[in-house]
Amino acid sequence: MSSNMEHSPIDELNPRVRGLKPSATVAINERSNRLRAEGREIYKLGLGQSPFPVPDCVVAELQRQGHQKDYLPVRGLQALREAVADHHRRFYGIECSAENVIVGPGSKELMFLLQLAYHGEIVIPTPAWVSYEPQARILGRSVRLLSTSMEDGYRITAEQLDSLCAEKPGQPRILVLNDPSNPTGQAYPREELEQIAEVARKHRVVVLSDEIYGKLDHDGGHVSIVPMYPEGTIFSSGLSKWCGAGGWRLGVFVVPDCLHWLLDAMAAVASETFTSTSAPIQYAAVTAFNRSMEIRVYLGQCRRILKALGNRLADDLREAGARILAPDGGFYLFPDFEPFRGALLERGIRNSHELCDRLMDETGVATLPGAEFGRPPEELTLRLSYVNFDGKGALDAAIDVPENEPLDDAFLEENCPDTVKAVSLICGWVKAGGRKD
Ligand code: PMP
Ligand code: GLU
Repeated sequence: MSSNMEHSPIDELNPRVRGLKPSATVAINERSNRLRAEGREIYKLGLGQSPFPVPDCVVAELQRQGHQKDYLPVRGLQALREAVADHHRRFYGIECSAENVIVGPGSKELMFLLQLAYHGEIVIPTPAWVSYEPQARILGRSVRLLSTSMEDGYRITAEQLDSLCAEKPGQPRILVLNDPSNPTGQAYPREELEQIAEVARKHRVVVLSDEIYGKLDHDGGHVSIVPMYPEGTIFSSGLSKWCGAGGWRLGVFVVPDCLHWLLDAMAAVASETFTSTSAPIQYAAVTAFNRSMEIRVYLGQCRRILKALGNRLADDLREAGARILAPDGGFYLFPDFEPFRGALLERGIRNSHELCDRLMDETGVATLPGAEFGRPPEELTLRLSYVNFDGKGALDAAIDVPENEPLDDAFLEENCPDTVKAVSLICGWVKAGGRKD
């Protein structure tokens, strides 16, 4: 490199990625691992990944398919696309075929492709998963955040969407609807989805329905917006959450016929970028999407454990004085420590970043600040992922508890000890400063 270069290397960066930091979820995981390697005791409630193993039948299929070495079609393996379409027909009663499906290396990548292909505004209800907004910004899309409140269950209302759309009628838009939600764990009731669907239809909004936690609805009663607005909804899911396979990197979109032009554009970009998704993983994913008793039992037990644990932890946090909603699905909680604002201020903590940093330094519990999820920085919210336990051990133990008996506190303390302990450390830490309302 010549030493007389006068401009800063920053000038050579695409302005859209200047200042872009690694995604908060990925960064907290790396930071936690580093601190652990230095010998600190760290409770990893940061990254949200399934604690449960990939079901045995899916792993066995992957082992059988290890020899698959050829590039696959850009839109995905035909058998997998058929299995996804079949699954979609069964669950949502929607007419669709393999032609409506595209497979990618994670639904995150497919969302990026979608936003790249679609030239419109991106509407994101907050709190929202950390990557939607940065993806839109990288692509130069204009972003509208729709703020929600705990009182409304952190859900947008149809009226909110209607008035936003009425500001610029006819403007192309994508609404990103994540149900159940990361980070709040809240799910939309059917009537509210119906009202949102009606407004979306009226304004011709494309709904990106991110249902990656749908199968982890704690009661197995996930309701999807897909059948309410089939012509305008893109369904997004994958293996990462319900199948415990985040690291396998497999996501799927089901795109309605009327939006085939978007699917075609996404596939064209995919063909110029990742070419196709890992072949052995796609073959194994066919088994995951096909109906099987083993997967049904596995999912039933995963939900049962997450439900008991999520409720117990929410109770603990509420008793300690935090504001919190019990989760409907997934594996996240989003407590608000506003009642402790005065006491936290005395300890020099003014916002969610400082809250999480100090919590990590002083207790070893890793969480993520509400600000990373699109909340105002001064809000004292944080997200915790209740996933730091041995999922296989917990599944084996749950199977021995008769189905009609709940998984009680003793079960959780024995099988998810570090999660229960981490939350008790959080509670003890906030209470130590006292509550000054
Ligand atoms: N949506 C939400 C809400 C998520 O939490 C995640 C994180 N895994 C994703 C999408 C992306 O998942 P993946 O790329 O692993 O399919
Ligand atoms: N979705 C997970 C989370 O919110 C982690 C993976 C990711 O962000 O890509 O923690």
